[in-house]
Amino acid sequence: LEPESKEMNTIYVQGFSTSMPHDIQEQMIRTIPGLQNCKILKYAYAIEYDAIDPLQLWPSLETKVIKNLFTAGQINGTSGYEEAAAQGLIAGLNAAKKLRGENSLILKRDEAYIGVMIDDLVTKGTKEPYRMLTSRAEYRLLLRHDNADERLRKYGYDAHLVKPEVYQIYLDKMERIHNEIERLETIRFTPKHEINNILETLGSTRLSEGISAKSLLQRPEMDYSKIKPYIGETSLTLEEEKRVTILIKYKGYIDKALRQVDKQKKMEEKQIPVDINYDAVLNLSLEAKQKLSQIRPLTIAQASRISGINPADISVLLIYLKQHY
Ligand SMILES: Cc1cc2nc3c(=O)[nH]c(=O)nc-3n(C[C@H](O)[C@H](O)[C@H](O)COP(=O)(O)OP(=O)(O)OC[C@H]3O[C@@H](n4cnc5c(N)ncnc54)[C@H](O)[C@@H]3O)c2cc1C
Repeated sequence: LEPESKEMNTIYVQGFSTSMPHDIQEQMIRTIPGLQNCKILKYAYAIEYDAIDPLQLWPSLETKVIKNLFTAGQINGTSGYEEAAAQGLIAGLNAAKKLRGENSLILKRDEAYIGVMIDDLVTKGTKEPYRMLTSRAEYRLLLRHDNADERLRKYGYDAHLVKPEVYQIYLDKMERIHNEIERLETIRFTPKHEINNILETLGSTRLSEGISAKSLLQRPEMDYSKIKPYIGETSLTLEEEKRVTILIKYKGYIDKALRQVDKQKKMEEKQIPVDINYDAVLNLSLEAKQKLSQIRPLTIAQASRISGINPADISVLLIYLKQHY
């Protein structure tokens, strides 16, 4: 139950979307414990809109049926401001790229939520208005908001959407972050009496042998601000200090996620020709032939994410590609 403002006594009922007639809504809402005596100020309502089947889109957001027509937003089966804006950016960018004869920008699932959303739409389609829930992404540890610039700024710069001076600020920032991580590796704390006393007051365990500042930062109870007074002058901003801490603390988990991405990348790199005739691929299941012909995935990885395409179909397809292309 979401209070709508500090001044008014109105409540928005989350997750109670409906377009039932008003008299039914009156009965429905009263079934919720605590709302037996509520007064409805505004009834829920539905809106209708036309949409295309997103399976008819290339990952560039160009429609397969009408060449050079790019679509974005609600017409592609999504709902939401950010979903529409993100697709608008990519569709507009790729339309411009096509005019210039450049390759499309297709963000990968490990690079951006935009990549997850567009891949879901064009690979799996959608029966309900699609919303970009974070749970749809498999590499959430990599898609952090603190590293959005690291994931995407270069693409923005290459596409002339990020000014050179802004890009340079980003490059300088990354250099400072990486230099600081290297520096922290070289700073050592020895198990001296005063250091151990400080560690105890910071709620950390005493040292029995020497340790680098970087290793100290890996302790769950430590963060950059706690060790800052003991590591000499730095010129990092607060945001950069945070990034240094994240990169050091979660290195093991981040590296593990990157290894998974690497494995997936090998499949992502195996391209499927757009004009392939799936009917000619022997031993491919009928369902696989139909879905692959309809969706026309651009890579083996995309093909493997289509519901109904099983690992046996992928093996058959790989053998066919090896023999014929
Ligand atoms: C009541 C309501 C509340 C919502 N609340 C939220 C919310 O809280 N958070 C959220 O994330 N999302 C919300 N949404 C959903 C969100 O508003 C939409 O999903 C999003 O705005 C879709 O953007 P779009 O650009 O795809 O389409 P639109 O914003 O609908 O833009 C399409 C545009 O095309 C124009 N157009 C149509 N036909 C033509 C034509 N023939 N020629 C020229 N122009 C044309 C229309 O006038 C319109 O301006 C809400 C939607 C509604 C209706």
